[in-house]
Amino acid sequence: MTSPKDQHNADTQHPHNMQLLYKTCRRKAKELQTTVEALKKKLVRELAFGMPLFRADPLLDSPPSAADSRETGIERAIGQGAKYRDLLELCAAAPTGDDVLFLVACWLKQEGIRQPEDWLPAKVYARLTSGTRKRLASISFNDHRYAAQIRRYLPYAALLLQNARRLRAKKVADPEQELLKLGYDRTDAELACSKNWTSEIAFTCEWLAARGEVKAAKARKDPDTARTLQNAYSRVFGKSAPRLISCAFCSKPAVSEFYGHDRTSASHCEDHSAEKLPRKSGDAWVDRAGRRWWNPDKGIRYDSPAAPPSST
Ligand SMILES: [Zn+2]
Repeated sequence: MTSPKDQHNADTQHPHNMQLLYKTCRRKAKELQTTVEALKKKLVRELAFGMPLFRADPLLDSPPSAADSRETGIERAIGQGAKYRDLLELCAAAPTGDDVLFLVACWLKQEGIRQPEDWLPAKVYARLTSGTRKRLASISFNDHRYAAQIRRYLPYAALLLQNARRLRAKKVADPEQELLKLGYDRTDAELACSKNWTSEIAFTCEWLAARGEVKAAKARKDPDTARTLQNAYSRVFGKSAPRLISCAFCSKPAVSEFYGHDRTSASHCEDHSAEKLPRKSGDAWVDRAGRRWWNPDKGIRYDSPAAPPSST
């Protein structure tokens, strides 16, 4: 029988899924290439209201169809009911009216119903985004653009690196060939195997430079695109940078993020790093959206409030 872990590995290593992940990252990166003002507005919105309240669910996220079986219909109804219950719980626990508006804005945004700026009264919107706007104002626009691009592609590059590390750990004769067999192209495979990468961010910057995915805003004297990208990233998200995102588990500024088994991410502070995540499901940390996170060593697990705790 296939264990859930094997199934997860098979899913993430399937060439079709990798292509899909690449296309998703690329589409999100393309969406960034708008005018300066539009991009600034978008950044404020994404940073202030980007917290996902519910985990992505292929069944719930697809529209009901006449071809659905009775079981699918029932599952869908239960899932929708659970979402409603979770939303009530989150709103009931929110300390202030602004917190309720914030949760509803995140919820409507995630469901693709309304963008926060389209329905929140201007004064409320200004209040809910004031911290984010202040922190954004102190960093150059190009740095934002590069850092945002890196974050858009990070899930794909991180998975590529993870696959390369897994092959190296298995001591296969030619990891580069194995990556090609998995469906990666030559640039991906060569770069991932070129050295023992320790930083996902450094790798993503080199990868973006090698693929020519990020174009410099104007011709630069410095031809080292990867270094330009990495400098921008550390000015926006690095240790001495003004913090744009707060930790998902407390109100401290986030220093990085980790990914769950299905690539859902959580931002975290120094005290809430992946290494410090509890090993047992029963000791899991609960983030601000009510999701429980724990670390069964190889792949970080999480549950949304609606899901029963998993035994792994
Ligand atoms: Zn924290």
